[in-house]
Amino acid sequence: RLGRPRRPRAPHARARSSPTSTRTHASHRRRASPSSSCVFMSLASRVPALAARRALMSPRARASTPKARVLRVCASSASSCKLTTSVIAPTVEKALVDITDAVAKGADIVELRVDFLQASTKAGTIACDIETLVKACPVPAIVTYRPTWEGGQYDGEEAPRLAALWAAYGVGAAYVDCEVLAAERFFAAKPASVGKTATKIILSSHNYDETASDEELAGIHAKCVAAGADIVKMASVCNDIEDISRLEKLLRDKGKDIDTIVLGMSEAGQVSRLLAAKFGSFLTFGAIRRGEESAPGQPLLEELRDMYRVPTQGPSTKVMGVIGNPIGHSKSPALHNPCLAAANVDACYVPLLVKDIKTFLKSPLFGSSDFIGFSVTIPHKEDALEVCAEVDPVAKQIGAVNTLVRQPDGTLKGYNTDYVAAIEAIETAYEKKTGTPAAEVLKGKTVVVIGAGGAGKALAFGAKFKGANVVIANRSVERAQALADACGGTAVSLEDLASGKVSGDVLANSTSVGMQPNVDDTPAPAAVLGGFSVVFDAVYTPLETRLLREAKAAGCEIASGLDMFVGQAARQFELFTGKEAKTELMRNAVLSSMK
Ligand code: NAP
Repeated sequence: RLGRPRRPRAPHARARSSPTSTRTHASHRRRASPSSSCVFMSLASRVPALAARRALMSPRARASTPKARVLRVCASSASSCKLTTSVIAPTVEKALVDITDAVAKGADIVELRVDFLQASTKAGTIACDIETLVKACPVPAIVTYRPTWEGGQYDGEEAPRLAALWAAYGVGAAYVDCEVLAAERFFAAKPASVGKTATKIILSSHNYDETASDEELAGIHAKCVAAGADIVKMASVCNDIEDISRLEKLLRDKGKDIDTIVLGMSEAGQVSRLLAAKFGSFLTFGAIRRGEESAPGQPLLEELRDMYRVPTQGPSTKVMGVIGNPIGHSKSPALHNPCLAAANVDACYVPLLVKDIKTFLKSPLFGSSDFIGFSVTIPHKEDALEVCAEVDPVAKQIGAVNTLVRQPDGTLKGYNTDYVAAIEAIETAYEKKTGTPAAEVLKGKTVVVIGAGGAGKALAFGAKFKGANVVIANRSVERAQALADACGGTAVSLEDLASGKVSGDVLANSTSVGMQPNVDDTPAPAAVLGGFSVVFDAVYTPLETRLLREAKAAGCEIASGLDMFVGQAARQFELFTGKEAKTELMRNAVLSSMK
């Protein structure tokens, strides 16, 4: 594997790739330990709002909600993992602008990818341009002159490339990155005139095909060390998220001996970048702007700093995440992370691109006790039932789990916070309308659920659990009947609903009808809405659907899909941390992510 780097994939990956490397020896092992004060929480006793919410759950579920989850408060000292940005500008002038931008956005280190300065290469001014950029860079700079054979842009002779790297060394770049494959000739090319400086040499290895086995990774690492690295950098494509386990193990095994950078390329590898400080990587890369990522799966610098709080992560940071496929669009990290920060707990919430939930949970890293909880989304909600040692009885009836909470013995307990949140949104609206206390308001009422899919099941079983009579109206009447049979309700057709034959107290849409872009569609005509006290719509894009608009006009109280979305996340937060979620913070985070 050392003989030849693996094929660069996307042109943009080849061009910009290099999750690269860094500087000072503030190694992970020397990171100040987080504050020793722990936060012990009891859901019922310390968070009054939770007590009310727990009433929504079955007695068995209530009995086993986490009562004393222990999360440390955030580390007070900075992590040693450096936030780094690659400057991939085509000209010196643009590179200077990007350096300023990167530093303003929080970069601790700037990597100067001088292989992108192709005019400088052609004109023979590269050494001079490197000096200009290194001297102008207010933070430590890594100089990288990546050749095409390692996924870079430089396509010329080796001698001038190595001479330029030694020029960077000579002008005091904090770091020079050289491919381990070229290490021997690089050290042999050191000019006699260049004396010892404080510059550290990063020897790097890139695998654009896969992440190698534990043994192979350890072997490459050992070769870098033996070749004279001050810092070792290893970047490899993760074809599956489980590959990150091997990168993390390498850091754990070797990072205590020498500063080491590991980076998983591709979306599946992204977590290695988001949790770089927890894992002990010497640095992690973030892009200055969207669309200017220097490798696939690279987050923004600001996201690393503010959302994933890399500067406060450490080895004891706990992790939660959302399991799904696809997952890039998920708003959950934007909801949970600000709440974790506000609660000052040493924990981070990440997106997890998972193909197979069972394999994922069996991996040494993601199956470990540091991963304390997972949100589960499409397509894993049903498979998630099978990985639980214990399941909330209503979630079991629904046949879907959207929350997995690690128990003290390491097993997982499954919950469905979708039904809790949907019912809570409806109850709150009903209480507003009638003044009847929310917890009792659905008893004996008739809830008409439109739809018989995942959300429909959650609403139907949730309403049944609260003592309501349930009517299911669905496009496929057979599916409506199956759900009605399962939850002890009755089934009707959408035509029955539209003709006004169906009456009830609550109308709850759980279909995607009316969702963007089909915002003029509605699952029930305006003429039938006036008969209901409360109308709920699970759809939250747009925030106010045609159904809700017409329900409001008909004098109904309305409950929105946003209430449900925020509610299910809030409940998850509470299950994960034992702390009350700041729902307004979550709501604002969703709203701003929708802009
Ligand atoms: P699902 O399992 O695929 O079920 C879809 C349901 O919608 C089925 O009952 C289906 O009827 C019905 N449907 C689809 N297109 C229809 C159409 N053109 N006309 C009539 N009925 C139609 O989906 P899901 O997971 O339940 O999600 C449904 C909606 O709820 C989505 O819009 C989703 O975004 C939303 N949701 C919101 C939240 C939240 O937190 N706010 C949470 C979960 C889901 P058939 O059975 O006849 O196919």
